Amino acid sequence: MAKSGKPRDTASATRLITGGRRAEWTGAVVNPPVWRASTHLYENYAALKAGPKGNADGRFFYGRRGAPTQWALAAALTEIEPGAFGTVLYPSGVSAIVGALMAVLRPGDVLLMSDNAYEPSRALGTGLLADFGIETRWFDPLELPAFEAAICEHTRAVLFEAPGSLTMEVGDIPAFAAAARARGVVSVLDNTWASALGFPALERGVDISVMALTKHVGGHSDLMMGSASAGKVFYARLRKTSQALGLVVSPDDAALAARGLRTLGVRLERETASALEIARWLAQRPEIAKVLCPMLPGAPGHAQWTKDFTGGCGLFSIVFRGSDDRARGRFIDTLELFGIGYSWGGFESLVVPIDPAPLRSVTRWPPPGCAAQDRFGVRLSIGLEDPRDLIADLERALAAWGTGRDTPA
Ligand SMILES: *Cc1c(COP(=O)(O)O)cnc(C)c1O
Repeated sequence: MAKSGKPRDTASATRLITGGRRAEWTGAVVNPPVWRASTHLYENYAALKAGPKGNADGRFFYGRRGAPTQWALAAALTEIEPGAFGTVLYPSGVSAIVGALMAVLRPGDVLLMSDNAYEPSRALGTGLLADFGIETRWFDPLELPAFEAAICEHTRAVLFEAPGSLTMEVGDIPAFAAAARARGVVSVLDNTWASALGFPALERGVDISVMALTKHVGGHSDLMMGSASAGKVFYARLRKTSQALGLVVSPDDAALAARGLRTLGVRLERETASALEIARWLAQRPEIAKVLCPMLPGAPGHAQWTKDFTGGCGLFSIVFRGSDDRARGRFIDTLELFGIGYSWGGFESLVVPIDPAPLRSVTRWPPPGCAAQDRFGVRLSIGLEDPRDLIADLERALAAWGTGRDTPA
């Protein structure tokens, strides 16, 4: 790539390696260096007058418009997203969601939002967007006819997420996106779970694909960033809105994210294989009412995942039998290899309790197939540890879960 400047038609594993590495940005080094700058200095008055004009991408003008490190990361993300014309970077995943929605919504519009959307996305619907005169309505991500019926003349956009946050339902995104497009509704997908490697969103009919780069792309739990990739028309709107909001990411973080991106493929493969092995083991355990892992045969969403996805990741949830929150606490506290903390997609395993009931408007928790009392779950983010060690850790934690329980399993 550095030689020709133009990628050939290569596999995604190869594009992760070659992406964004243009000689004019990287110089003689391999990965784009950190290019720190606010001010562009000109030789003289004539050079300033002849300088970059027209707000073009890829020409240094002023730090807020980005510099080679950020451009290289954005270009790499565009190259791994089939159908993308460009990518805008944001200081966090949430700001990428806000940036995408503000690029397409105007006062008086209605936004449809998947009922299993990430909690801050839901809060955006009832908060900031409502303040700006945009109404949000929730839909069941598994009910296409109800979704179609919910589209009205004011519906401008839809926010999808699959698998959904915490509860992991996998909707038929290609069918939902096609239904939206047929009615002139712009579709935005929070594609953080699968990334373009596991779900090439634009190719599947989505208009704007958003990722929290904080998770898999960074991959090392040491940066915050988000991205939105789109074809030509929506890229222009994303870029214009982001510039109006004055958004820019730091070159240091962009360099870290670019470094993470190079190993994204192998990390996802390894985490997916470990997660599947662990999910299989958990599914056999009497303490567990339900394993919510779309990669697991027989689990909810598996058929849809097999149909539409080309890869998975290490994130899934489990539901315990019975209604004993203290037992869940013992399970979490006994784990030694799983850190207790929000976020996911890093090299290390994590666990958090999940209580989705108050975060659902038109779908139910506990999920179908669980008894009403089976409502306490946890979400596991499987990292790069040896899965046998993680299983041994989980086995100890399940033993602790079972000691002195309030209610029998
Ligand atoms: C974490 C997360 C985000 C937000 O990312 P931040 O970088 O933490 O703002 C968005 N969507 C999903 C599904 C997430 O898990």
